[in-house]
Amino acid sequence: MLKTLLSNEHPVSASVGLSPRPVGGVFGWARDLGLEELHFKYDSAVGLKAIIAIHNSQHGPALGGTRCIPYATESEALADVVCLAQGMTYKSAFAQLPYGGGKAVLLRPEKIVDREVYFETYGQFINSLNGRYVTSVDVGTCSRDMDIIRRKTPYVLGTSLDSGDPSKDTAKGVLKGLQAAVKVILDRDDFENLRIAVQGIGKVGFALAEMLHEQGARLAVSDLSPEVMQSFADKFGAELLDPGAILSSRCDILCPCALGGIINHETTNLIQAKIVCGSANNQLAEDCWGDLLFQRGVTYVPDYVVNAGGLIHIVYGSNAASRKRHIEGIYLSVMEILTRSRTENVPSHRLANGIAKQILRDRTATPPVA
Ligand code: NAD
Repeated sequence: MLKTLLSNEHPVSASVGLSPRPVGGVFGWARDLGLEELHFKYDSAVGLKAIIAIHNSQHGPALGGTRCIPYATESEALADVVCLAQGMTYKSAFAQLPYGGGKAVLLRPEKIVDREVYFETYGQFINSLNGRYVTSVDVGTCSRDMDIIRRKTPYVLGTSLDSGDPSKDTAKGVLKGLQAAVKVILDRDDFENLRIAVQGIGKVGFALAEMLHEQGARLAVSDLSPEVMQSFADKFGAELLDPGAILSSRCDILCPCALGGIINHETTNLIQAKIVCGSANNQLAEDCWGDLLFQRGVTYVPDYVVNAGGLIHIVYGSNAASRKRHIEGIYLSVMEILTRSRTENVPSHRLANGIAKQILRDRTATPPVA
């Protein structure tokens, strides 16, 4: 493993997001991305293999969820955590929150023998960083897991003691982004009879699809779990699509709500939708695929702009009014980005990255008064 990670041909899959592939070995790559810290924890007795990446903590603790999924390779897990952490920095900056960007991945074993011990051990790992990293839920983890982590560290949000699961607010934020995109691109104020394909009917995808159904959209959904798909279809009458068919399906809007890297060298030209807008982090395997979407006339709504509702949820906690106001603000952010994208003829993801970087530069230039 170490040999592979330190090799100059670090073979990371193209499945993940914001940053180009590493070319100079893991530490050179980390340096080039401006990553502050990388932490590894291995505990053979409980089957824990964890990586925490702190991308930026200059403007507050690095905040980002814990992803717990099986990875094909350790290099893939490393690339995922690093790119996700970078995305969290942009997300926090864009949403004007007093946090930095971080992320954790747990390389899920075939079976977690004792979930309590597993997440307690992981909680100790988080605690050892003394608050430089704060966690919450992501793919493969839930509020119950956060409760277990809370036994070992205070550096966790989204537990049943604070704001609880943020996924519904993430879905509400994506809905706001979709409303803005539909207004700018289709000149419509509603979803009535629009055909919307949702990839991933998990915590966010389910809540989003349910709201879209209530607003009259014609849904097609896809998930790796046939049971999840069937139960959604039974409830809401959606069309079921094979996971391999959803990206190329004929639809007005594609909502990626599963994993990242889905817009890549194989898929970009297949996308039929006019608008791509969903909760999945790091949807663009690399920025060039966003450029290609733009050239093809497909509007991509930058993921970290629309999926910030969950982050807003855990940061504002019980302050429901601020939470709601902030999430509703996603509508105006998306309006502005898509309108500028049209008038300036610049792809939306490039505009959003530019704005996020400028916010970070401005913050560095004017540190908060003590
Ligand atoms: P989840 O684990 O609850 O749901 C993900 C779903 O996607 C699962 O049902 C899984 O079976 C399905 N899936 C995985 N690969 C698929 C594929 N190739 N095709 C179809 N379905 C597939 O996760 P979640 O919390 O709903 O998060 C979804 C996405 O949104 C993730 O990328 C996550 O990082 C992002 N996100 C989540 C939140 C949040 O509040 N939960 C906040 C911001 C961003």
